[in-house]
Amino acid sequence: MLLPKFDFHEPKTLHEACQILAEYGTKAKLIAGGTDLMVNMKKKILSPQQVVSISRIAELKKLDTSGDSIRIGACFTVADLITSDAIQKHLGALGEGAKNLGTPLIRNLATIGGNLGSARPAADLPPSLMAYGAQVVLSSLSGERTLSLDQFFLGPGFTAVKPDEILTEIQVPAPLPRSGAGYINIGVRKGQDCNLVNVASFIALDTDGTIRNARIVMGCVGPIPLRARSAEKMLIGQKPESALFSRAGAAASSDSTPIDDFRGSAAYKRDMVGVLTRRTLDIAFHEATQRQ
Ligand SMILES: Cc1cc2nc3c(=O)[nH]c(=O)nc-3n(C[C@H](O)[C@H](O)[C@H](O)COP(=O)(O)OP(=O)(O)OC[C@H]3O[C@@H](n4cnc5c(N)ncnc54)[C@H](O)[C@@H]3O)c2cc1C
Repeated sequence: MLLPKFDFHEPKTLHEACQILAEYGTKAKLIAGGTDLMVNMKKKILSPQQVVSISRIAELKKLDTSGDSIRIGACFTVADLITSDAIQKHLGALGEGAKNLGTPLIRNLATIGGNLGSARPAADLPPSLMAYGAQVVLSSLSGERTLSLDQFFLGPGFTAVKPDEILTEIQVPAPLPRSGAGYINIGVRKGQDCNLVNVASFIALDTDGTIRNARIVMGCVGPIPLRARSAEKMLIGQKPESALFSRAGAAASSDSTPIDDFRGSAAYKRDMVGVLTRRTLDIAFHEATQRQ
């Protein structure tokens, strides 16, 4: 399959990249690792006239763990997430998503910004990032705006990023003591397969051991990653225990809106949401008891 014709831009600074986007608007498309965009261009799903690479912009590759938020540059690769001690220590559920994404070749190129930008309902990184309460920074010539990931995804392949904007940074609140998160994905096969269901859970405990905050995010069971709101509500103020986590799993199943497709039936996916919710809550609780 041949690529359609396009002009290629390779700016070295964010300002230069923003200028190119401001000039070409909807005729331009950003490329980071290219593992999603190139496939869509070869399939002629997308035919941008201008392709703007952001992979040479050094400031988009930074990881900063010094403040209250862990700030991850949009061009931080999936392989970088796996090898980063800071990510594995503070954001283990994100690291787990990274380990499960694609193959080594894909992980070396694929970026965290591209994984969010592609807005695939089955993507591996959005559930844990949303469970951690992450925000994204969108930059353009007019300045910066910050958006919660809950507001970022609009539908399959669609995000709130405007044609002249670049997702520059993902900001994840540094996990506080007595908080933890878990992520599990399942697919039909083990290697290089699209997820069938993926779930991330986050809980924070109060000093008396009750659950102060909970976020559960389900992938593959709706047009965008979905929060399991009724399950989250059920957990808050309660003592963590297996029976509660099972009930939360059942509530999350009801919160999900899967469809039948060639990967599995809606009923099976709904059941799996329940199982993965319970298991990720177990992982999150275990981590919360360790992080004092
Ligand atoms: C064989 C194969 C296996 C795969 N397996 C998985 C998998 O297991 N799990 C999974 O989640 N994904 C998988 N993918 C999809 C893809 O690899 C990932 O989504 C990857 O993270 C995309 O990142 P990228 O940097 O390559 O994005 P690109 O292809 O460069 O970009 C993707 C989209 O995001 C936009 N974009 C990129 N960066 C930015 C930015 N900074 N600001 C605004 N918009 C931006 C682009 O314009 C484009 O629309 C797979 C792909 C292939 C080809």
